[in-house]
Amino acid sequence: MQRIASKIKCPYFRNISRQRIICEGITDRVEFTPMPFKNREEMVQYIGDFCACECWRGCPLAEMIEKKY
Ligand code: SF4
Repeated sequence: MQRIASKIKCPYFRNISRQRIICEGITDRVEFTPMPFKNREEMVQYIGDFCACECWRGCPLAEMIEKKY
């Protein structure tokens, strides 16, 4: 899982836990935001589609976090 994490380009990424991506909080009062997936395969697919490329800007959660700034 560490190998996948090292490929992530999104600046809002914080960690991976089982089948969850842990991202920055959506507001200043929230420490982090978990993205729970149905299974690990879905999570890996999402990472490839969004987190691990410049496509991260298209992630709905990244769009929400960006509104903080
Ligand atoms: S792309 Fe979305 S799910 Fe992935 S690390 Fe960024 S905010 Fe989190």
